[in-house]
Amino acid sequence: MTTVSTVRGPVEVDRLGQTLMHEHVFVTSTEHLDNYGKGAWWDEEFRVADAITKLNAVAAKGVRTIVDPTVWGLGRYIPRIQRIAAEVPDLHIIVATGLYTFDELPHQYEHRGPGLLIDMPDPMIEDFVRDLTEGIADTGVKAAFLKCVVEHKGLTPGVERVCRAVAQAHLRTGAPITVHTNSFTQSGLPALDLFAKEGVNLAKVVVGHAGDSNDLDYLMKLADTGATLGMDRFGLDLYNPTAQRVATIAALCRRGYADRMVLSHDAACFNDYFPEAWDETRDALAPNWRYDHIHDDVLAALTESGVTGEQIERMLVFNPRQLFS
Ligand SMILES: [Zn+2]
Repeated sequence: MTTVSTVRGPVEVDRLGQTLMHEHVFVTSTEHLDNYGKGAWWDEEFRVADAITKLNAVAAKGVRTIVDPTVWGLGRYIPRIQRIAAEVPDLHIIVATGLYTFDELPHQYEHRGPGLLIDMPDPMIEDFVRDLTEGIADTGVKAAFLKCVVEHKGLTPGVERVCRAVAQAHLRTGAPITVHTNSFTQSGLPALDLFAKEGVNLAKVVVGHAGDSNDLDYLMKLADTGATLGMDRFGLDLYNPTAQRVATIAALCRRGYADRMVLSHDAACFNDYFPEAWDETRDALAPNWRYDHIHDDVLAALTESGVTGEQIERMLVFNPRQLFS
């Protein structure tokens, strides 16, 4: 039986159950938090307890796994996630490696690599592979997938190097990839093109935030490569309201694409983009941007739009399992 690494250790893929394929526990900058959060808007014990409550609530809805693409650039800090996972027994948390940048590399990778000041193999690849095969820092927790970004600026030199390093780490380990894309600039297309040229198995790629688009031609072009569409920002109505996200998924299901979509919210228990009064700000800006919107509202709306129970099962259970198999 194939297993996948989770925060609490390996789990058989058949036991992943209903899986939300793109949820953060926390989005922070560790430097922001350490220098401005502590003693001000960040209360470690409160935030850990709050996350345990919110994640147990989504587990109570029937969700068995969340896939958390929080990497460097979004404040990955695994010891805190381990504390939380220990108190959320009915939910598996799968964590990621990779890099979140819309443009430039962190300076720590700028001068080291093939043909650079320090001429050496790309250290990003070594770092990503180590996270996947040995574990992240000294936590013993292994990442199970790779994350990168192609945003509105497209394949800048920094973004291109990250994507190539992610592709190489995928080729060495077989780990699936989630690429954050901008649906308004259709950046999923150059992302998949680059991965294809690097020899990536596109059946192992999730085009994150594809669900911000209602352009069926764009979405089918992505899915026809074998990649999976991340319909993963339910509740972020400012990018695309729920009713339109639902209509787009229903249209794609009618055209036979239920096996190429996964569902999620891209939510978080806390996000330091709005550090003061996070929950109140979230409630004001995007009241449905929470882990249970899909189970509370979206699944019924999909059913009303003609999406079958079997298709929902595909998007929530079968497709995630396939990606990690
Ligand atoms: Zn995200």
